Amino acid sequence: MKAIYTFGNGQAEGRADMKDLLGGKGANLAEMNLIGVPVPPGFTITTDCCNEYYKVGQEKIMELLNDEVTAAVKHIEDLMNSKFGDTQNPLLVSVRSGARASMPGMMDTILNLGLNDEVVEGLAKKTGRPRFAWDSYRRFVQMYGDVVLGLKPVNKEDIDPFEAIIMEVKKAKGVKLDNELDTDDLKELVVRFKAAVKAQTGKDFPTDVKEQLWGAIFAVFRSWMNERAILYRKMEGIPSEWGTAVSVMAMVFGNMGNTSATGVCFSRDAATGENIFSGEYLINAQGEDVVAGIRTPQQITKEGSLRWAKRAGISEEERVSKYPSMEEAMPEIYKQLNEIQIKLENHYRDMQDMEFTVQEGKLWFLQTRNGKRTGTAMVKIAMDLLKEGKIDEKTALERCEPNKLDELLHPVFDKEALKSAKVLTRGLPASPGAATGQIVFFADDAAAWRADGHKVVMVRLETSPEDLAGMSVAEGILTARGGMTSHAAVVARGMGKCCVSGAGALNVDYKSRTVEIEGKVFKEGDFISINGSTGEVYEGMVQTRPAEVSGDFAALMDLCNKYTRLLVRTNADTPHDAEVARAFGAQGIGLCRTEHMFFDNKKIKAMREMILAQDKDGREKALAKLLPYQKEDFRGIFKAMDGFPVNIRLLDPPLHEFVPHDQAGQQAMADEMGVTVEYIKQRVANLSENNPMLGHRGCRLGNTYPEITEMQTRAILGAACELKKEGFNPQPEIMVPLIGILYEFEAQEKIIRKTAAEVFAEEGVEIPFKVGTMIEIPRAALTADRIATRAEYFSFGTNDLTQMTFGYSRDDIASFLPVYLEKKILKVDPFQVLDQHGVGQLIAMAVEKGRSIRPELKCGICGEHGGEPSSVKFCHKVGLNYVSCSPFRVPIARLAAAQAAVEE
Ligand code: ADP
Ligand code: MG
Ligand code: MG
Repeated sequence: MKAIYTFGNGQAEGRADMKDLLGGKGANLAEMNLIGVPVPPGFTITTDCCNEYYKVGQEKIMELLNDEVTAAVKHIEDLMNSKFGDTQNPLLVSVRSGARASMPGMMDTILNLGLNDEVVEGLAKKTGRPRFAWDSYRRFVQMYGDVVLGLKPVNKEDIDPFEAIIMEVKKAKGVKLDNELDTDDLKELVVRFKAAVKAQTGKDFPTDVKEQLWGAIFAVFRSWMNERAILYRKMEGIPSEWGTAVSVMAMVFGNMGNTSATGVCFSRDAATGENIFSGEYLINAQGEDVVAGIRTPQQITKEGSLRWAKRAGISEEERVSKYPSMEEAMPEIYKQLNEIQIKLENHYRDMQDMEFTVQEGKLWFLQTRNGKRTGTAMVKIAMDLLKEGKIDEKTALERCEPNKLDELLHPVFDKEALKSAKVLTRGLPASPGAATGQIVFFADDAAAWRADGHKVVMVRLETSPEDLAGMSVAEGILTARGGMTSHAAVVARGMGKCCVSGAGALNVDYKSRTVEIEGKVFKEGDFISINGSTGEVYEGMVQTRPAEVSGDFAALMDLCNKYTRLLVRTNADTPHDAEVARAFGAQGIGLCRTEHMFFDNKKIKAMREMILAQDKDGREKALAKLLPYQKEDFRGIFKAMDGFPVNIRLLDPPLHEFVPHDQAGQQAMADEMGVTVEYIKQRVANLSENNPMLGHRGCRLGNTYPEITEMQTRAILGAACELKKEGFNPQPEIMVPLIGILYEFEAQEKIIRKTAAEVFAEEGVEIPFKVGTMIEIPRAALTADRIATRAEYFSFGTNDLTQMTFGYSRDDIASFLPVYLEKKILKVDPFQVLDQHGVGQLIAMAVEKGRSIRPELKCGICGEHGGEPSSVKFCHKVGLNYVSCSPFRVPIARLAAAQAAVEE
C-alpha cells in the first residue's frame, strides 16, 4: 500500500478530498500545489502509517517506510536543488503533524531539521548569514530537545528549561528580546541547550540527519497520544482511531533578515464573521513566534492595524514606526497575499485560516484550512457566502453546526474578563450560558434576594421540583450531584438558564449556609460565576454580556423552513416559555408538564391537601380548589400557542415529591387541613417508596385516583371552551403518561371522553381534541399495535424510555457514567444522545406497529433528545411527525431537521 504522497512545484499525488489519509494539513498542501499557490515541496506520510506505528512499533515501521522516505527526501532535494545533510548546500525540512480534523496546536511540529555543527557552518556560508544559520540551529535544538528527546519542565510550576537558559543568556547580556542576541550568543545557546538535554535526559543530541528525521517522524506519531491531544479529541468527539499524518517539507525562512517574515491570516473575521481580511505577522521571525507572544505581532491590513492601535492606545506615530501593517511595510507581498487569500477562499468556498512565510521577498504558503469560528460567525459566513453566490442553499444549511446556534441564544462571559478569572472547579456543562451572582442555597432565599434586586446563583447538592421557583429567578444553578439529565439540568435547559451540575468538589453545608470548594469556603452572599458551556466554576464576579441575535440568524431559520419536513414543537409549562419558543419558531407544544404548575405558594397547598386527603371526598374537595388554578394556567398556555396544538400530559410524578418533609411545613399543612401533625407525618411516611420512579406515578395515579384525571380534563377542556368562545383557536391534546398496558390507557381514555362530553354540554361548545399516550415503557413500544387501537397519537418520552431500556436510574448515573465513558463502555451519555441501536429500535418498531393499525397516527418525541441534532436526524429517518424540545433548543432542532431533509 502506498504510504507516502509527494507534492511540489505545482504537482501533487494527493488532493483536498484525501483528508482521511493525508490529514487536513497534508491534503491541503497537495491541493494548494494543484491550484498554483506557492508551497515548499514535501511529502506526507499517511494516517494509516500512524495506526500501523501503534500496532507494530518503531523498528518495524521504519523498515516498512524506509525506501519510500528515502525516495521522497530525494524528491524534495531535486526540487530544492540542495541536499539533506550536505555541508555545502544543505536542505532543511520541517516535520509536521496533521489529523483529519484540525486540532490546532495539539500535536507536535519540528522546524529546521537537518542541522548539526558542520551543516550549520555550511548554511551560514551558503546564505552569507551566520546569525540566521545559528538562530535556526538553536530553534531546532530547542524544539527537537523538547519534542523528541523530552526535555520538559520537571514540575508544572517550572518554566520551560530552554526558555530558562535563554533568559539567563539575555540577562547576562542585558537585552530583552530574542532578536537582540548576536551570533555568538546563539552559538552559546546551542551549546548550553545540548548540555541541558544530556544532563537531564542522558541522551546525546543526534548529529546524523537521517536519525533526526526518523526521531521527528516517530515523535509526531507519538504526539497523537499526548495528553492535550487526547483531551481535545474528547471535547470535539474525534475518534482516536483516526491517527495523524506526518508532513515533511522543505523549510522556508522568515528569519532571514528584514525582507523576511512569517504570519497567519483569516479570509474573514472568525469572531464576528465580517468579510474582512485579517491577520498578524512578524518581520524576521519563524513559525510560532507570532502566536507565542515573544514579540508584539503586527497587523496585516492597514485597516486592521489602525483598529488595533486604537484599542491598544498606541499613537499613530508609534504605530507607523514600530508596528506598521504588512500593507504598509511590504506592499508588494501584501498584494500577493491578498490575491491568494481570495483565491483560496473562492476555491474552498469557505473562510480560510492560513499560514505563510516570506523568505527574502518571496511569499510561501504553509497551510490553509477552513477556519474555526464562533456561532455568530458561522451563521454570518454561511449566509454571506450564499448571498455572494459562492454556495447554494443546501450547502449553507450544511455549513452550520446546529449545536453552535446555542451560543447565539444565551448570555456569554466577556472574553477579556475570563482571562483573569480564577477557576475553582469543574462540573458538567449542563445548560449553556454564563451566570454570575451571589450564592444562595434555598429557593425562597433566591426569590427574596431577587426581590431585593440581587442577582443570585443557586448552589445546591441537587435540585427538586420544590426549587423551581428559586431556579427561575436565579441567574444560574450549580449543583454538586446529578448528571446531564438530572432535575437541575433538564429544568435549567428548559428555562434557557445557565447550569453546571455534578460538580463533585462542592461541599455544600446547608446548615451553615456555606459551600467549600477545593479548600476555600464561600458563604451565602459571596459572588460566584459559572460557565454552563464549559462546566467551569469561577471565583467572584465575571462580567457577562447579553447574546445578540442577528438578522442572518433569522434568515437561516427561514431557510430551514424551506427544506424541513419534521416539525419542531417545544416543551413548555408556562405561557412565558411558550412565547419564547414560539418566537424561536416552535409550532406547538409537544409536552406540557402539568405538575410544574403546582409549585406556587397557593397551589401547592391545595395540591398537598389533595395528596394528603384521607379519602375520595377529601381529595375531591382539594381538587375543586385546584381546578380554577389549573384552568387559568391552561388558558395562558393555549393563548400563547393559539392556533397550534398543545399536548398536555396528565399528572405524572410520584406524589411523594409534592409533600412537605420538614417539621414546619408539616405543621402548616396540619393547621390548614385541621388534622394533627402526626396524621400528616403518617401520610408522608406512607407515600414514601423505595423506587419512586418505578412506583406510584404516571397513569397509575389517574387509575387509582380517577378524580385527578377528571379534574385535569375539566381544566384543560374548560379553558379551551372559554377561549373558543372568545375567538381563539385552542388545539388541545390530552396525553396519558407511563402506559405499559392497553387497558391502562383505555380506563383513562374513558374518563377523559366522559368528562369531555360533560364539559362540552355545560359550555355549549365543542372542541376537537385528541387523546394520546406517551410511549416511555418498553412494553408499550412492544405492544404499540394494541395501544394504537385506542391512542390517537404517540409521544416518545425518551428520558424514561432510555432509563427503562438501559435500566439506569437517570438521577443516579453520576456515580458510574463518567467511568463508563472513560472506559468506552459507552461512547456517549444515552440520556443526551439517543441510543439508536437500542432505544431507537423500540421507537422505530412502535411507529411501524402503531401505523399498521392507524396509518395517520401522529408520532413525536418529547424527551431531552428532541433538541439533540443526531437524535433529531434519527427522528426524521424513522418518520416521526415532530420533535419537541426546550424553548432554547428550538432553533437547533429546526436546523438539524432541515439538515436531515437535505441529507436525504
Ligand atoms: P500546528 O499544526 O500546530 O499549526 P504547524 O505544523 O502548522 O503546527 O507548524 C507550526 C509553525 O511552523 C507554523 O507557523 C508553520 O507555518 C511553521 N512551519 C511549518 N513548516 C514550515 C516550513 N517548511 N517552513 C517554514 N515554516 C514552517
Ligand atoms: Mg499550523
Ligand atoms: Mg416520563
